[in-house]
Amino acid sequence: MNALGRHILVEFYDCSPELMNDVVHIENSMVAAAETAGATVINSTFHHFSPYGVSGVVVIQESHLAIHTWPEYGYAAVDLFTCGDSVDPWVSYSYLKEAFEAGHGSSMELRRGQLNLLKRTDFNLEQLRDVSAKPQEEPGTITRDVWFTERDENIALSLKHTGDQLYKKDSPYQRVEVYETLAYGNMLTLDGMVMCTQKDEYVYHEMITHVPMMSHSKAKRALVIGGGDGGTVRELLRYEQLEEVTLVEIDELVIEACKLHLPETAVSFDNPRLNLLVEDGIKYINECEDGRYDLIIVDSADPVGPGEGLFTAEFYSQVYRCLTPDGVMITQSESPRFNSAVFVEIYDTYKKIFGQDKVHCYLAAIPTYPTGTWSFSYSSKGSSNPLQFDREAAARFSKAQGLKYYNEEIHAAAFALPNFVKELLASGSQEAIEAYSAEPTNEQ
Ligand code: SAM
Repeated sequence: MNALGRHILVEFYDCSPELMNDVVHIENSMVAAAETAGATVINSTFHHFSPYGVSGVVVIQESHLAIHTWPEYGYAAVDLFTCGDSVDPWVSYSYLKEAFEAGHGSSMELRRGQLNLLKRTDFNLEQLRDVSAKPQEEPGTITRDVWFTERDENIALSLKHTGDQLYKKDSPYQRVEVYETLAYGNMLTLDGMVMCTQKDEYVYHEMITHVPMMSHSKAKRALVIGGGDGGTVRELLRYEQLEEVTLVEIDELVIEACKLHLPETAVSFDNPRLNLLVEDGIKYINECEDGRYDLIIVDSADPVGPGEGLFTAEFYSQVYRCLTPDGVMITQSESPRFNSAVFVEIYDTYKKIFGQDKVHCYLAAIPTYPTGTWSFSYSSKGSSNPLQFDREAAARFSKAQGLKYYNEEIHAAAFALPNFVKELLASGSQEAIEAYSAEPTNEQ
């Protein structure tokens, strides 16, 4: 070959937008395209942009293959660059055209580093030789560097995963996916938003359950709306005193995905004491009798998609109606740091329904949630106060149950709010919201 390398610039058109947004499929196809052409793959790095688009590169012994996709155009720009004669990049071209179901492709081959234009410099090559110790790698293994990213307007969270997607199905309500992350184990996402991971789910599930159960210790009937991962009912079913534990989850695929890939969280789905209903929680609460529940936990996702209706005054008024006179409503109430405007709006709504001094906010540190600072609300229909709880009983219970986050000190401390949160809750002023919100506020 009279050149150092062959560089094929490729444009694939009319590809399926789904495939152009499928980081796992794209990464696997690019690696396979290299191997099919006889290349030796060294590593691959792929990034899934939110809301859509994928970028990535496969480094091969013979140089690299790279791609960037625009799902909204069904388009992919691909670079196939090989050195030497051992690899035919056109084999990769044909492989990818098929793998991406491209309607058509256009390509141009450039010979890079035309030898007749190059002058070899005769300095001692030994100086260049990289003699640093290399980590022993299994023959044939490639280090894959595949990242899942949940990106919001101004902030993003990326988690490296194995590249293999354990679960991916579209339900009538949302896309349900499970990734095998390296740092947090298996991770459930809904419509690209992190719901829970094996390594930190206990924080959320212990705090949304044990704070109310320890403060409202005579509770007999509990209802969970949402919570299809099973973590909240797992914690509730630790309480023998509960005569009824009902879970109303709208999406059976969430339950299926967690039974398969987050078994520790889904462990109680077959518990005979659990009344598991797959239906819309809004319909359930609208049809529920007055004063039926001592505790209603709204374990919803974010106020988008099927969960949007779970953040409305109508819904909370129905919850209020279905609580016993001394009943308590607990919700995951988003993050004061992440989206302060939503946070303030939610609390204003609770206070209008339960009363100004009947609504309490408590915090927990959840690493895989946007900003890591998450909040829960404790709204009492009667006189129940979350800080009036039996500390010794809480300490005994936490120890006896081997809890990993909740204990009597955390219970009390969680209600000790930083000044910026107090300010958001007290004034809810636009000024405060703009001062503290990571996400753009309504006004910005
Ligand atoms: N911990 C998570 C969080 O804060 O992001 C939420 C966990 S849980 C997986 C949320 C569940 O609420 C999802 O499984 C979703 O399907 C369910 N959900 C959303 N809207 C619902 C509705 N209207 N009725 C019942 N369940 C609903």
